[in-house]
Amino acid sequence: MTERLYYHDSYLDRFDAHAVECAGTTIYLDRTAFYPTSGGQPFDLGSIAGVSVRDVIDEGDRIAHLLEAPIAPGPVECSIDWTRRFDHMQQHTGQHLISAVFEELFHLRTVSFHLGAESSTIDLEGGVVDARVLVAVEERVNAIVWENRPVAVTYEEAASVQGLRKASEREGTLRIVAIDRLDRSACGGTHVRSTGEIGAVLLRKVEKVRQTVRVEFLCGGRAVRRAHADYDALSRVAQLFSSALNDAPAVVAAQMEAARGADKLRRKLELDLAAYQGRELYQNTAPGPDGLRRAVRRATSGSLDELRALAQNFTAQSQAVFVATLAAPPSVLLATSADSGVDAGQRLKAALAEAGGRGGGTARMAQGSVPDAAALERATSLLLRTRDLVEDDLS
Ligand SMILES: [Zn+2]
Repeated sequence: MTERLYYHDSYLDRFDAHAVECAGTTIYLDRTAFYPTSGGQPFDLGSIAGVSVRDVIDEGDRIAHLLEAPIAPGPVECSIDWTRRFDHMQQHTGQHLISAVFEELFHLRTVSFHLGAESSTIDLEGGVVDARVLVAVEERVNAIVWENRPVAVTYEEAASVQGLRKASEREGTLRIVAIDRLDRSACGGTHVRSTGEIGAVLLRKVEKVRQTVRVEFLCGGRAVRRAHADYDALSRVAQLFSSALNDAPAVVAAQMEAARGADKLRRKLELDLAAYQGRELYQNTAPGPDGLRRAVRRATSGSLDELRALAQNFTAQSQAVFVATLAAPPSVLLATSADSGVDAGQRLKAALAEAGGRGGGTARMAQGSVPDAAALERATSLLLRTRDLVEDDLS
């Protein structure tokens, strides 16, 4: 059974121990200050006999240390990565504090906790966490940090324990982590000795996850780094819009509104232009012996959709047939005026049936695709039937 030194002293970052069992790179010590992943808190890093620790696993009675390389049994010097451990202590004690205040102010119970690499989250049962709730909890939490209340660890019997924020399912002796005059929780984690060491607490994103509300939080060093990163991001936005930091949201909103207006105008101008081009093309297209004006537009790339407005405007006039082709992917479009006597949908279907393609549309406008260039030529000539055409090659 491994003696857990971190239970009694979470500030112990260097210790001597005996490697009692070495199975490859998995090492068991007689006693350890390495915290194994449990209760939402990740494992510690550091070194044992100068070899880096990769993982620490709680196996119940014993704690397994996974090393980068094997070591020999016997006495070993161990050291914990203190920066990582202290960060975990700030986040974990911060979590107890935040959970206690959510419960104290709004009766919102914490159902789970996750300590992540960047930020951490708690999941609250039910309820609504809006901006007002978040600000109230954040203020109260930071006020208790400033009061620098003691955080103490005691051991009590499960049968007679009282006043726990969350009932424990464990039996026998419980490890109780208490924040003075606020919270008592059964917990095996490593904690700071007073709330002042948690440092600034920042509550951030709130999202609904199934039946719970997930609240993101950062404590101490993480809160400061995150606040700075947020400042950098907002500064870049403000710089792009040549605005003061506080004005950035309003300036961005105004610019987006202006962009939407410009987009609307551009679409209108495109339609106006297509109307002019349609009329101009119609005037420059001589009628065939049958009185129909036929125009062909050939595009090599892009989309036939870009030619639809032109087709519509050309065939909005009397006795008009408009064919557009696209080389890649090979496709055709046929538009006809109401008085042309040509049903675009039927004509296209018939042409594609012969040329080996597929498509369809209405009596005035139809579109389809063919397998290759030869089929495209065949379909085009079938759609036009006669040869006296004005051709406008587009590339
Ligand atoms: Zn805990």
